[in-house]
Amino acid sequence: MTEVQNESQKLDQVNTSLKRKFKDRKLVFGSGFPTAKIVFVGEAPGPDEEREGKPITGYKEKLLNQLLKNAGINKKKVYFTNVLKYSPSTLKIPTAKEIKSYVPFLKEELKTINPLVVVTLGNMALNGIGMRQPLDNVHGRTFNLGSYELLPTFHPDHALKDPQVKTLLQLDFIKLKKLLDSKVG
Ligand code: URA
Repeated sequence: MTEVQNESQKLDQVNTSLKRKFKDRKLVFGSGFPTAKIVFVGEAPGPDEEREGKPITGYKEKLLNQLLKNAGINKKKVYFTNVLKYSPSTLKIPTAKEIKSYVPFLKEELKTINPLVVVTLGNMALNGIGMRQPLDNVHGRTFNLGSYELLPTFHPDHALKDPQVKTLLQLDFIKLKKLLDSKVG
């Protein structure tokens, strides 16, 4: 069995345990390259993601793909997931308890993929990974979290509403490429 097949099988096991725990929910699992060097962590799927069955679709996906291309990062070698694996009911902000119940699965997912860099998109994703600092203070900086470097940045939704945030997001992707290059040599 190749490394990719092996990791893919392990990810299926993580997803099976998620299904067992959250039987009554329609879940949207992570998607992408199972041995990715970069994992993007979003907040929660919306109705579009539920329909397509993968995280971060539509205009958000388009923007991220553009940013990856501009930074010279191969989008086929990354993995996308969310802290929450279901779409929160209409306009309801997930409670801290709801978020917390998914965190062990996110940690297991990250452990399985074993990336070099985890990029959180937005405040909730940053909190979901265990960092309590406001995003404005930490975006674009690198934090060593043991087996990977954490690079917090803004959510694409935020960037699409605010051109200044879009510029910061673009700069963070350039930092991401430099960080990756420094890790892979
Ligand atoms: N869709 C996702 O999958 N994640 C987000 O954070 C927002 C929309």
